[in-house]
Amino acid sequence: MLTAITISALAMTAIVAVRYLIASGLFAWATSRVRPRLYAKLGSQISREIRWSLLSAAIYGVPAGVVAWGWQNQGWTLIYTDLDAYTLWYLPLSLVIYLFLHDTWFYWTHRWMHRPRLFRIAHAVHHNSRPPTAWAAMSFHPLEAITGAVVIPALVFIIPIHVAMLGLVLAIMTIMGVTNHMGWEMFPRALVHSKLGDWLITASHHQRHHEAYSCNYGLYFRFWDKICGTDRGISDALQR
Ligand SMILES: [Zn+2]
Ligand SMILES: [Zn+2]
Repeated sequence: MLTAITISALAMTAIVAVRYLIASGLFAWATSRVRPRLYAKLGSQISREIRWSLLSAAIYGVPAGVVAWGWQNQGWTLIYTDLDAYTLWYLPLSLVIYLFLHDTWFYWTHRWMHRPRLFRIAHAVHHNSRPPTAWAAMSFHPLEAITGAVVIPALVFIIPIHVAMLGLVLAIMTIMGVTNHMGWEMFPRALVHSKLGDWLITASHHQRHHEAYSCNYGLYFRFWDKICGTDRGISDALQR
């Protein structure tokens, strides 16, 4: 049993690492086409970002691997595969619930990690990317990686989700994690400056967090930043 759990954790680590390399690699390549000189002087920073990110992948793989094993072999979790198990409108609702709860967890742990002592111990690693690149998506100190690694594996025990919606949550998490750090805005101006865009976090918003530190802590939505008065709008550097 222990061997099976270990294999599952190692497999998940490999999946998370490959997912990171493909997603970051793809958007780093896109960056080289759209903004050819953007990462020109960042070679040594990028190798640091990749090293920290692969270490984070190993940490993310452990709870994910254990839970995946328990789901397959022990009937753990509320992940379901039968589309008829809940009404169809629960599919988009579960997606929104997961994103909102993940965002809530991220906002508060992120704010907490900006307290001076914790910042020095853990979160400084992430902010060592100045400016961040597409490779910084998982560039976290192991302590910070643990806070990120437990949230989705914990939620699947509490809130039912169809396996396809879970895949979508992970895809959104991966793509936004990469694109929010890549140093340019891929979404059209019409969306970023719209009423909807005013509530969503894209590169323009997270870039300002990396410029000014004590604001814009959210992950997907500007909800908590607005409620708590920590929203300082979007980066001037990324304005188009
Ligand atoms: Zn960041
Ligand atoms: Zn931060």
